[in-house]
Amino acid sequence: DCIFCKIARGEIPTNKVFENEKVIAFKDLRPQAALHYLFIHKDHSKDLNDMMKINPTQASDILGAISSFTQKENLIKDGYRVVNNIGPHAGQTVFHTHFHVLAGEPLGHF
Ligand code: AMP
Ligand code: ZN
Repeated sequence: DCIFCKIARGEIPTNKVFENEKVIAFKDLRPQAALHYLFIHKDHSKDLNDMMKINPTQASDILGAISSFTQKENLIKDGYRVVNNIGPHAGQTVFHTHFHVLAGEPLGHF
């Protein structure tokens, strides 16, 4: 009963912004920037390390989707940030691997 698996199967409504055979992207419920999207693989893994054990191609599928999407939406013009949280210190709350894409305004430097 993983929430992002349900989104990937279309069982929970979401604001979808991108989809291909392997990857789906949707707007984050609590945006942390003017534009805030989550990119996930349709196949479940609990975090990036788990994904790399299951099938590292999935990481490439997601990064490829982010690259296509950000070029199509012209986010590459002003730039954007890709974030992947793993575990408690990073504040991971959903245990289906996801990459945040933050854009649309200057982001705080860290
Ligand atoms: P993380 O803290 O990296 O695990 O990020 C989980 C993110 O998922 C948070 O930014 C939440 O706002 C977001 N989120 C949780 N449930 C949903 C949902 N149903 N639709 C869209 N975003 C969600
Ligand atoms: Zn899942």
